[in-house]
Amino acid sequence: MVELNRDVVIVGAGAAGLTAANELKKAGLSVAVLEARDRVGGRLHTDVIEGAMLEIGGQWVSPDQDALIDTVAELGLETFSRYRDGDSVYVGPDGVAKRFTGEMFPVSPETEAVIAEITERLDAMVAEIDPDRPWAHEKAAEWDSISWDAWLRAQTDDDEAVRNLAFATGSAMLTKPTHSFSLLQSLLMAASAGSYSHLVDADFILDKRVVGGLQQVPLLLAERLGDDVFLEQPVRTIDYSDGGVTAIADGMTVRARFAILALAPNLYPRISFVPALPRLQHQMHQHISMGFVIKVHAVYDRPFWREQGLSGTAFSPYELSHEAYDNTNHGDERGTLVGFVSDQRADDVFRLSAEERKERILESLSHYYGPEAKNPIVYYESDWGSEEWTRGAYAASFDLGGLHRYGADLRSSVGPIHFACSDLAGAGYQHVDGAIRMGRLAAEQILQEARA
Ligand code: FAD
Repeated sequence: MVELNRDVVIVGAGAAGLTAANELKKAGLSVAVLEARDRVGGRLHTDVIEGAMLEIGGQWVSPDQDALIDTVAELGLETFSRYRDGDSVYVGPDGVAKRFTGEMFPVSPETEAVIAEITERLDAMVAEIDPDRPWAHEKAAEWDSISWDAWLRAQTDDDEAVRNLAFATGSAMLTKPTHSFSLLQSLLMAASAGSYSHLVDADFILDKRVVGGLQQVPLLLAERLGDDVFLEQPVRTIDYSDGGVTAIADGMTVRARFAILALAPNLYPRISFVPALPRLQHQMHQHISMGFVIKVHAVYDRPFWREQGLSGTAFSPYELSHEAYDNTNHGDERGTLVGFVSDQRADDVFRLSAEERKERILESLSHYYGPEAKNPIVYYESDWGSEEWTRGAYAASFDLGGLHRYGADLRSSVGPIHFACSDLAGAGYQHVDGAIRMGRLAAEQILQEARA
């Protein structure tokens, strides 16, 4: 058993943990990063599957994500824009694919008016929310006690409008059924991206990618830490007191003045805390859970949809794959589509055989792009639900009422233990940008305490 003494032990080598470790090391503190997996990056993983480079986890960067944009630039990485020339496709309740441009789906004028009016109202509500303190809004308790679905249905009886408004924060972001999280949680999701309109604007929220893959961010951050990153070291026990922390992993023990838990909050209970965490943390952590989405990659010999004047951008709240995009790599002659299957639909298709699931998902993509979509040369499903050290995708959120009840305590430290990850962020919530912000914040708090 290796034994180390450091100023700070960081549990988790995702974007949050590696950012914190770099900040602390730059400030002169010694660190050790313990990572359960045999690789760094956590929910960022760029891999080559059957000759195709795929972004198995996070990939897109939007223009408001300053923390990520600065990090990407500082690491010397290049970005490129998502392909978006041509028409988008929408499949309505009649199952017919319709082309459109801009953000408004090609629905009836009545439904369009309802969507526009509720979007305006949502933007006004979101503007009142501080993403770092949504619980501080005067209506926080009220907005946290009604589900996103129930609130939308109370605004209109136009089902198509409700489904289209719901999925921007539902299937597309929190990846949970819209009856299972609150209006407040939905407003936080939108506030974290600047507005509800930003979330429905694919050109904004899915703007750019990193040439060579977004996992380079954690890989390069880890490189700077050299021998201070330890792989295949799941931390099992954290022994703590006001005097410091001992983190016990499978092959090593690190004694430190401070710890940063840089893992998703649904995984905190995997660790034995001695003494037990306070009552509030015990309760709070049981109200945060991971959403679930399958990210589907289909690679073709060429981006055939572009020949039909299609951008590759496709949406439908009625389809198995509720959204899909052109995800062709920079400089690649082949064409890649990425589609998403969310929450209960994802559960349903995982009850099928792999062959049947593939067939169903490709059938859904063919409703947007035509029969050629059914024959990719490479097909791959990112299944983060079966990853022991994540257990879902994209990120974690509170159940109904949890955000108002516990949110203010989410980032509070417990003695020498600090918490950091994208799931705790305000701005950049659930995104790599939020992970970096939370990593910086935890490092800053520790530096202040260390100097006090
Ligand atoms: P993580 O990346 O989860 O890192 C936590 C680390 O802790 C992991 O490496 C884990 O292995 C480790 N760990 C867990 N338990 C232990 C333990 N006991 N001991 C030691 N180590 C432990 N974001 C975007 O910005 N843009 C996108 O396009 C985007 N798309 C996404 C698509 C998918 C399919 C997924 C899954 C996520 C996506 N996200 C996206 C979200 C983004 O990837 C995450 O929010 C972000 O990477 C989380 O970083 P993190 O460091 O907070 O947590």
